[in-house]
Amino acid sequence: MAGTVYHWIDSLLSVVYPPTCVLCRAPGHRGMDLCSGCLAELPHNPSACPGCALPLPDDHPLGSPCGGCQRTPPLFDHCYGAFLYREPISRLVGGLKFQGHLHYGRLLGELLSRNLRERGAAIPELLIPVPLHGQRMRTRGYNQALEIARWVTRTLAVPLDTESCARTRATAAQSDLALEARRRNLRGAFTLVRPLRARHVAVLDDVVTTGSTVSELARVLKRGGVERVDVWAVARTE
Ligand SMILES: [Zn+2]
Ligand SMILES: [Zn+2]
Repeated sequence: MAGTVYHWIDSLLSVVYPPTCVLCRAPGHRGMDLCSGCLAELPHNPSACPGCALPLPDDHPLGSPCGGCQRTPPLFDHCYGAFLYREPISRLVGGLKFQGHLHYGRLLGELLSRNLRERGAAIPELLIPVPLHGQRMRTRGYNQALEIARWVTRTLAVPLDTESCARTRATAAQSDLALEARRRNLRGAFTLVRPLRARHVAVLDDVVTTGSTVSELARVLKRGGVERVDVWAVARTE
């Protein structure tokens, strides 16, 4: 029933606001707010490390992890970073996160879903957007990871879970910190507020840089009994 209502609302919205490219205002491609020209120019991340999504050189053996993941395997099992954090993906992510362009969440969610489908990503039992701390949630008014996850959950039919995990500690902005400081900054940042009845979970974030945020969340989920944690991110920094 809810699906029918959503479908009906979507159809109505596409008549009132026909899909239009957010980058160049041309008509959108297949219901997306992006035209086929801009779509073709997105910075894909095809030869990425399966462990941390770091882009790897073309001559790196396909499917084999990067040196960093071989030395220290991440706490999560797989990381998908659909795109490289370059223009125009960086502009779309920034627009969603810092300029309140909530409709970019739909576009980024659709792009991420398509990419996961193309790569044959295993579908988890639950999708958990990386939670924001209450204080930041109040200042920003929304969680950008959730705004993307809303669309992924519908497109890929994965149940969304925004209740089981909470960010209990406000942390300094990660971008201002070096790697070891990032890890320290995040320790104890997340808690499981109720038991999870899932063995396979994906956590969704807009951008993965060093992976320390998603690592900390994966640690908490695994301690809570989850066997497999995948990371789904729109973009991976290089
Ligand atoms: Zn365009
Ligand atoms: Zn790696």
